[in-house]
Amino acid sequence: MKVCKFGGTSMATTQSILQVKSIIDRDPERKFIVVSAPGKRFSNDVKITDMLYAAYDEKVAFGTCKSSMKVIRERFLGLCEELGLDIDMNKYLDEVEEGIINSTSSDYAASRGEYLSAIVVSAVLGFKMIDAGDIIKFNNNGIFDAELTNDLVKKYADYTDGIVIPGFYGRMPDKTIKTFTRGGSDFTGAIIARGIGARIYENWTDVNGFMVTDPRIVENPKHISVLSYEELRELSYMGAGVLHPDSIFPVQIDNIPINIRNTFDPENEGTMIMDNTAGYVLPVVTGIAGRKGNTTILIKKAMMNGELGFCRKVLTVLERHGISVEHIPTGIDTMGIVLSDAGLKNADEEKIISDIRGMVNPDFIKISHSLALIAVVGHGMVNQLGTAAKIFTALYEAGVNIRMIDQGSSELNIIVGVEEKDYNASIKAIYNAFFG
Ligand code: ADP
Ligand code: ASP
Ligand code: MG
Repeated sequence: MKVCKFGGTSMATTQSILQVKSIIDRDPERKFIVVSAPGKRFSNDVKITDMLYAAYDEKVAFGTCKSSMKVIRERFLGLCEELGLDIDMNKYLDEVEEGIINSTSSDYAASRGEYLSAIVVSAVLGFKMIDAGDIIKFNNNGIFDAELTNDLVKKYADYTDGIVIPGFYGRMPDKTIKTFTRGGSDFTGAIIARGIGARIYENWTDVNGFMVTDPRIVENPKHISVLSYEELRELSYMGAGVLHPDSIFPVQIDNIPINIRNTFDPENEGTMIMDNTAGYVLPVVTGIAGRKGNTTILIKKAMMNGELGFCRKVLTVLERHGISVEHIPTGIDTMGIVLSDAGLKNADEEKIISDIRGMVNPDFIKISHSLALIAVVGHGMVNQLGTAAKIFTALYEAGVNIRMIDQGSSELNIIVGVEEKDYNASIKAIYNAFFG
C-alpha cells in the first residue's frame, strides 16, 4: 500500500482536488490519504492555516472571530458547492467557530484547515475519514508520543477501502488539540506510512521534486532524482522548504522510501528519498539550502582550549535562558555560537551576554544579528578534495564576505554564514560553481 500526502496547493481549488482524485483513482494502492489545509491559489493569496491563526488572534482581541471566519467559510462553502458535495459544511464551520471561541491556544484553530479539508476530500473520494486526534498522540508535556501513535495507526494497516486523515495535528491526553510545527502534514504522512507498513510514502506537492536549490532564487535549478535520508534532513532543516525536516524519522525506522511528486505533473517521477542509495552515482554536492534570521555570539579567550569545561559553562548559560543552539563552530581560542532569531525572540540578550561574561570571563564577546546560513550538502564531499576551496572561491569572486564556516562532523555538509543582504548572491555563486 501507499500513503499519499497532498499539500496545500493540491487542496487549494476545485480543479486541484479533482486532480487529486484522478491521481488516487489511477492506482489501487493509493488508499491512505493525508491532506493539508487549502493553500494559496495565486501568489498573494492567503493560506487557510494563516487565516485560522488570524481567527484565533481576533478572538483573543475581540472575543469573536466572525470576521476572519467569514472568508474561511466562503472558501469551504465554495469548494463544496463547486464539487457538488452533499455535506452540511455550515454545521462543521459553526462547530469550528464555536471551538475557536472556547479554545485557549491557537493550535485548535490552526488545525481546523486540515480537519475541514479531510471532510471535503473524504466526500469526494468516498473514503472513510479518521480524525487525526484519535490516532496521533502527544503526552501531557506536549511531546509527540511515537510509539502509542504507531500502535493506534497499525490497527488500520489492513483497511483496504480507503482512508483520509487530516495532517498537522493530534491530541493530548486531556483531549486538547496540538499541532506540529508549520508544514507538519508531511510528518503526519510519514507517521501513517510507518504505522500501516507502507511500501512507499508519496508526498504530492507543486514541484517536480527536490531541486538542487530554491527555485525562487536560482532560475530552473537542476533536478535531484535521488537523495539519502540524511541529505534530506540536512537540506530541509537548513531551509529547503519542500518537506518538513522531521519527516524522515518515522519512515527511516522501516526503510520506507519517500517519493516527492507533482500533483500538476503526475507523470513526472519526482525525487526518491531513501536509505540505500547504492547503485546511484551520487554527485559531490547534492543540494544547497539556507535560511536567514540567525544570530551569532562570538567569544574569544587566550588559551580557551586548555580551560576545562569552557564550552559546557557557556552552553549552561544558554540552557538556563531556555535557548537551543544551532551550530558551534570553534577555533583554538574562539568559540562561535549560532542561534536562530526565532528562538531568541523573548530572550534578554544583554543578560545572556553578562551571564556568559560572569561564567567564563572572556577577552572578547560580541553578539551580531542578520546572519544567513547556507549549507552545501552531499555524501560525495567526503572523498572529494577541494570542495571547500571551490565554495570559498565562488563567494570571494562574488564579493561576499564570509562571516562563519562550519564543517559538520559528518562531512556531509559545509555551512557558511554570510550577511543576509548577500544571501541570494551567495546561493547563486555556489550553485554556479558546482552546476553552472
Ligand atoms: P506543500 O504545500 O505541498 O507542502 P510547500 O510549499 O510546503 O508545499 O513545499 C513546496 C515548495 O518548496 C515549492 O513550491 C518550492 O517553492 C519550495 N522549495 C524550496 N526549496 C526547494 C527546492 N530545493 N526544491 C524544490 N522546491 C523548493
Ligand atoms: N497547513 C499547515 C501549514 O500551513 C501544515 C501543512 O501544510 O503541512 O503549516
Ligand atoms: Mg509543505
